[in-house]
Amino acid sequence: MPRFFSLFLLAMAAFAADPADAIWSARYVITMDAQHRVIENGAVAVKGERILAVGTKAEINARYTPKVRLDRPEAILAPGLINTHTHAAMSLFRGIADDMKLQDWLEKFIFPAEAKNVSADFVRWGTRLGCLEMLLSGTTTFTDMYYFEDMVAEAAKEAGMRGVLGETIIGFPVADNKTPADALMYAERFLKRFQGDSLITPAVAPHALYTNSDETLKASRALANKYNAPLVIHLSETKKENEDEIAKRKTTPTKTLDDLGVWNGRSVAAHAVWVDEADMAILKARGVGLAHCPSSNMKLSSGVAPVTRMLALDLAVGLGPDGPAGSNNDFNMFEEMDLAAKLAKVTTLNPQALPAVSALEMATIRGARALGMEKEIGSLESGKRADMITVRIDRPHAQPLYDAVSQMVYALKGSDVRDVMVNGKPVVRDAKILTLDEKAILAKAAEYRAKVSASLK
Ligand SMILES: [Zn+2]
Repeated sequence: MPRFFSLFLLAMAAFAADPADAIWSARYVITMDAQHRVIENGAVAVKGERILAVGTKAEINARYTPKVRLDRPEAILAPGLINTHTHAAMSLFRGIADDMKLQDWLEKFIFPAEAKNVSADFVRWGTRLGCLEMLLSGTTTFTDMYYFEDMVAEAAKEAGMRGVLGETIIGFPVADNKTPADALMYAERFLKRFQGDSLITPAVAPHALYTNSDETLKASRALANKYNAPLVIHLSETKKENEDEIAKRKTTPTKTLDDLGVWNGRSVAAHAVWVDEADMAILKARGVGLAHCPSSNMKLSSGVAPVTRMLALDLAVGLGPDGPAGSNNDFNMFEEMDLAAKLAKVTTLNPQALPAVSALEMATIRGARALGMEKEIGSLESGKRADMITVRIDRPHAQPLYDAVSQMVYALKGSDVRDVMVNGKPVVRDAKILTLDEKAILAKAAEYRAKVSASLK
């Protein structure tokens, strides 16, 4: 009779539990909520596109009955990583020219290679390759600026990946648009097409101050504001960019863009290497999100962004791998976290300049803030979009584990990512992509390699 009674109670509990679509559990759940809670033997319940609840495995199991359960007792469950600056389709130019200054690399290799090769098909396959690499290494949101951005958005949706995507607007003829006016019209069609999309946030992406006229920059801002869209731009990446602007107008690029009204609305500026105290005050006052790109800045010897100061000012600064073509050459956010922390330490001679938790914050919730999406993504909290990853901790470089956050930043690799969910949908399971045809993508990459090499002879 007591046995019958306890079975009855169990059945009642199951009956009383709320339905969930999925419960994922792991040895550690890194929430990146306001208290930076790490829950041992934790779990996350998901329904539809959103997180229902986060807690201990026992609590979550008592409250919810899932359709699907994923138990990872030898993994960390963390928010999906957020890439705040990249050019996904350039993966097809990976390693095309290394070990150069930005201007030489751009003018002698990238612009000519792009002129001869970039097409809608190139962008579609390049983005598929980029999304494949990003998802397999734990990135769930990417911020992109390139050409044929429609193709980028279609490929991202196919991959099941979240994207803040902007058509590049630049002051010379490119593959898809011959003038900035054409590019602005393209951008408006793009903004209209992806309004309200659950994965795609359409953006307007003037390439930089030095590649656009003042009129184009003002028009880009006006267009972005018409659709409440973010404006994405490169800012003060090199010393030369700053020196040229100071020679031209006696002001910094940040100040010029402020004078033009470009920061009057949602904005994400990539690099911000050569910004001074007055520039940072402008960026703070205007609420500009920043994308720190340590790999790219180191590889192109662009300089070191004052990240420690940015964090002290509580600027919304995220991380970006930037370009796979020659300025990185991959999309691995685990590397960006590790390098951001170490670059800040070595250049300030202060080991506390950028601690592990700040690096992880930049790759998650602070990155979300940079994109103006912190209410939707960037942490594991009830009501947020279900974007999350599991990362193996059963390999030699992951053991023993004293601190899950330290392990994420300094020891674990992108290749340790095991499962990925974006917007409530599993897209990687057991390190295998569920949404894209990996074999076909790799075959296409080889095909494009031959084509691009021939075009440069
Ligand atoms: Zn870039």
